[in-house]
Amino acid sequence: MTRSIIRRVDWTCSPEHAPEAPPIVHEFQCTTCEDTGEASEDFETARGWTFAHTGRNPSHTGYRELIHRYWRLTLMG
Ligand SMILES: [Zn+2]
Repeated sequence: MTRSIIRRVDWTCSPEHAPEAPPIVHEFQCTTCEDTGEASEDFETARGWTFAHTGRNPSHTGYRELIHRYWRLTLMG
């Protein structure tokens, strides 16, 4: 089998800015039990769940933020 490179292309990867692009969504996950709070476009709403979760589970004090951000690859020149 012979392989050939027909054309080299360069791509760039950047956040999606199209008007119809989904917004950034924040979510918190407990690192002790892996329970997750409600995902929200509003950071403070998402973070608010951590206080309620630790209130119910005082030994659960570590969290991981999950950010859902949409990206777009664009062909350069
Ligand atoms: Zn937990």
